[in-house]
Amino acid sequence: MPSTVVVTVGDELLLGDTIDSNAARIGRALGDLGAPVVRRETVGDRAPAIQAAVARGLADADLVIVTGGLGPTPDDLTREAVAELLSRPLRSDPEVVEKLRARFCAFSTGTFPENNLRQAMVPEGARVLPNARGTAPGLAIEQGGRWVVLLQGVPRELDGMLAGPVRELVIEVFAGRLRPPVHRFVRTTGIAESLLSEKVEARLPTERGPVRLAYLPSLRGVDLRFTVDDAIDAQEAKDWLHRMEAALGDLADYRFEGEDLVAAVAGALEGSGRTLAAAESCTGGLLAKRLTDRAGSSAWFLGGVVTYADRAKVDQLGVDPGVLARVGAVSEEVARAMATGAARLFGAGAGVGITGIAGPGGGTPEKPVGTVWWAAAVGERVVAETRVFPGDREAVRERSAQAALHLLYRMLSGTPS
Ligand code: ATP
Ligand code: MG
Repeated sequence: MPSTVVVTVGDELLLGDTIDSNAARIGRALGDLGAPVVRRETVGDRAPAIQAAVARGLADADLVIVTGGLGPTPDDLTREAVAELLSRPLRSDPEVVEKLRARFCAFSTGTFPENNLRQAMVPEGARVLPNARGTAPGLAIEQGGRWVVLLQGVPRELDGMLAGPVRELVIEVFAGRLRPPVHRFVRTTGIAESLLSEKVEARLPTERGPVRLAYLPSLRGVDLRFTVDDAIDAQEAKDWLHRMEAALGDLADYRFEGEDLVAAVAGALEGSGRTLAAAESCTGGLLAKRLTDRAGSSAWFLGGVVTYADRAKVDQLGVDPGVLARVGAVSEEVARAMATGAARLFGAGAGVGITGIAGPGGGTPEKPVGTVWWAAAVGERVVAETRVFPGDREAVRERSAQAALHLLYRMLSGTPS
């Protein structure tokens, strides 16, 4: 299998002003192509540092991808540094000059800045990789059967390059050597990683052939990623993955289909022809945001209210003030009344309510920070659940919204729990 080294260039990356998301983009793209990234390096805007990193990359890998520093300003040094390292004189490419001029005229007025001509300089023997999303093209240089590819730092431009010209180049020059991995993701939520792994390990056969399993935890749940690397034969790999997934069997309580739990909820709502409304306290609209992040959610999501104060819960949702006084806002009774109140307020077939203490203040010995109640009302049925969630304010809010979605999903899809 060909291997890739990534070099990201920029003082802002070293200083932490910019998070190096380009390395992650490249890792995913090249991993999926079957030329996995084996090392990453970040260097500042200095020619000797860039040259040393590229030389190390060429010593160890078949492909070195460099991002950043291809722009028109004097701090953009990558092109010149790499051309010098590989002893390739830079020449102005008339076709690139023409494209730069045309693009400049289309988007700006005034005279074409001479600075931009630097972006038309091409190292001898390099291939120009067209950049549909910006001015500077990418460059690909072969050096003794290995390749150095220079790409833009701007993430949006980089994405376009990876999906188009870089992909085509890699497939062409490493033809026959690429081994794209075959993955199967199983998404779970509402179960701790350790407990999940006990259940999973008990169900999976001991003979797992070429399959590797990774647990990928996040605030929203734990994804299982089954992978066959270096696939012998794509069909055989798929059969193995299918066998693994089938063996998981009754994880149904925790498992859902699709990228995001919202997609699963949307599917269940669409399938049952129900509409949904939300009443949120500690999540402050996060649930409504996630629901409406999904294009087309207007088909089933009618609306939501953020009822933060007790008064708002009473006035907007009809929560009984006597109940509030007796058991407090963070309680089973109030979560239930919020769910049914939201459904009533919006005339929806289903409602969700979330109430909790996100912290850092506001906890008591009986209701510590992280205590959350959530409820879902589907038709006549109302179910409430509670947890004390770990983590900071953001984590508690994220986990709460996910837990409410999970309850709703189980009720809508008829999963036993
Ligand atoms: P430009 O023509 O805009 O100068 P460039 O190819 O020279 O492009 P840089 O100047 O290095 O690229 O970066 C351009 C923008 O892209 C900056 O906003 C920078 O923060 C961002 N960027 C650069 N490298 C990365 C990276 N590794 N991860 C995420 N963002 C990055
Ligand atoms: Mg720049």
